Amino acid sequence: MNAKHTFVNLFLKRSSKQECHIVLSRWNTYYEALSEKHKKTFVVRTLLFLNTTDFDSKEGFELTLEMKLVISSAFVQITFGLKQDVLRIFNTIFVTPTSYKYASRDVFFNGDVNTVTKRVNLSWPAVEKGFIITNDGLNIAIHEFAHCLIIENTKRSRLSKNINQNDLNQWKDIATKKLPLIREGKYKIFRNYGGTNLMELFATTLETFFEQPHEFYSYAPTFYRTTAKVLKQDPRNGKNPK
Ligand SMILES: [Zn+2]
Repeated sequence: MNAKHTFVNLFLKRSSKQECHIVLSRWNTYYEALSEKHKKTFVVRTLLFLNTTDFDSKEGFELTLEMKLVISSAFVQITFGLKQDVLRIFNTIFVTPTSYKYASRDVFFNGDVNTVTKRVNLSWPAVEKGFIITNDGLNIAIHEFAHCLIIENTKRSRLSKNINQNDLNQWKDIATKKLPLIREGKYKIFRNYGGTNLMELFATTLETFFEQPHEFYSYAPTFYRTTAKVLKQDPRNGKNPK
């Protein structure tokens, strides 16, 4: 645990940590695989994220602590190797009881990052499915938080980047070459949607990276290793990913 998390840990109630541990053990297979030492850090980071984020939901839909912890865990998972442990811009998460649509478009969403309202929207049934089916490369919470990570990184000054710029540039170089193949469905490890643009490919890559790390590595070792470098972790080492 770094100095900041050791300090945060002092202010967390034992009962909150225990409750968080129970929820994470039940829902998050990445957490479940971690060593005891990493589990402690993961719990602290989850509660820190929970306490610094505004969770909101539609009237009449009860957003439980369990749901909030599950959603928070997706962010902690993707940033577990990084210094960044909270969201600075997109720290409002709006959870809906079903998929939803915007008045201007006739498309249903399971999640999106709204850069105008600075809000992350997530449909709970989609989040739930993402965690229940752990190995299909689909996890909407990981997907949307991946977008947040990149957008927040872009808005930071050169010296306070949360992601190493050289690593990210290396990732972009590889990703740019793969983009047309993915779009045409010729790069089977990713779904075609990932080929939409680099932003969508990054989010899709993270879903695959965490849900199918061994398959991803076998299929594209260099791309996998570059992704691991960006996130400073390797989920193939379940106990000690970083
Ligand atoms: Zn997306």
